[in-house]
Amino acid sequence: MRALCWAGAGLVEVRRVPDPELRNAQDMIVRVRRSTTCGADLPLLAGQVPEASAGEVLGREFLGDVVEVGPEVRRHRVADRVVVGATVACGACWFCRQGLPACCDNGTSGVAAEPGWGQPPAGGYGRPARLGGFAGGHAEYVRVPYADVGAFAVPESVSDERAVFAADAAPVGWYGAELGEVAPGDVVAVWGAGAVGQLTAGAAVARGADRVVVVDDRDDRLRMVTGHDGVEALNHRYVDVLAELRERSGGRGPDVCVDASGVPAAPVRWPAAEPDGGAALREAVHACRKGGVVVVLDARPGFVDRFPLGAFADKGLAVRAARRRGGAAIPALLERMARDELVTEHLATHRMPLEHGAEGYALFRDRADGCVRVVFTP
Ligand SMILES: [Zn+2]
Repeated sequence: MRALCWAGAGLVEVRRVPDPELRNAQDMIVRVRRSTTCGADLPLLAGQVPEASAGEVLGREFLGDVVEVGPEVRRHRVADRVVVGATVACGACWFCRQGLPACCDNGTSGVAAEPGWGQPPAGGYGRPARLGGFAGGHAEYVRVPYADVGAFAVPESVSDERAVFAADAAPVGWYGAELGEVAPGDVVAVWGAGAVGQLTAGAAVARGADRVVVVDDRDDRLRMVTGHDGVEALNHRYVDVLAELRERSGGRGPDVCVDASGVPAAPVRWPAAEPDGGAALREAVHACRKGGVVVVLDARPGFVDRFPLGAFADKGLAVRAARRRGGAAIPALLERMARDELVTEHLATHRMPLEHGAEGYALFRDRADGCVRVVFTP
C-alpha cells in the first residue's frame, strides 16, 4: 500500500510499504478515508526525535471504513465507518480501569520513554515505534489494536471532514476545559489558536464560561476563533495581553488559563533541555487569578526552563496537564457533531491527496496560506 513516511530530517515522502495484517484477536484493519496533520508531528519532521526511524508511517488522527476484524472484536463490523482515537489503550489495565487510558500500560512499548518520563505513557499512531508508536493513518490501511476500546462508529450525518477531528483535536480540547473545571460564569483564557486551542475555547463556551479569550500572534487564526466560536481574541503582537486579560476579568485575572500553544514553531532539541520555550506557560501562570487553574495541553518538548515556581506557589495555583484524553469523550463529541453543536470542518483549511503529503506538511509547518490543519485523502 501507499503511505506517507518520515524519510529523515525535514523530509516526508509517499512510499510503498507492506499492507498491515491482524496480529491479535482484538485488532481490526481500517481503510483510511481521511487523516490530518498534527502539531506533535513537527519535532519528528524536523529530525529532533532520535528514536524515529526512516520509513515509519506518519499520521496520528484518522477515520475510515472497517475492512477486517479479529475474532474478539465485538463492537465493529466490516464496512462500519469509524473514527480512531489517537491513543492506543487496552481498556483493561490498572490505569485504563481508573479512567486514564492515556496512561495505559499495555498500549505502549515504553522502551525509550521510560528514562526521560519515569513511566511510559500510552502509545499512539504515527509516533516512532521506540516511543510506543504504531504505524499511522497517513496510509491506505491501518491496523487498529484494541479495536473495541479505541474506535468509534461515526453517525451517518457527520461528514468525514468533521469527524476526523474527533480522533484527537476535539477530545483534547474538551479535556482541557474539563481539566480546568470550567464552570458557568468563568473567565477562560486560551493560549494558541491552532485546532486544539480553538476546540478548547469552544468547549469552554459549551461548559458555560462567561468570557473566553484566545491569545495568539496570527490574525488569520484569531479571525477563525471570533467567527466560529463567538469568543474574544487577543493578538499579543498588538496588545498588552496581561493588562487586557486583567481588564476583561474584573481585575482578578482569568479563572482558568489553558496553554494550548503546543510545540514551539522554532526548532528545539528534544529531549535535551530547551533553551527558551514555555513563554505561553509563563504568561498563563502570570495572568491566572489567585487560586485559579492553569492547564497545559498537548504535545510538549522534553523540558522547559524558567518555570515561574514562585508565582505558582504564592498564588496557590493548580497546574494540570494532559497530552491527550483517550477515547472516553469521543462518542459524546460525535453526537454533538451530529447535532451541529460541534463544527470542526473549517479547521481543515487545506485538503489534498496523500501524494501531496510533503507539500501539505510544508504548509502546515510554516503556517503558510492560513493553514491550520491539512486533511489528506489516500
Ligand atoms: Zn490499559
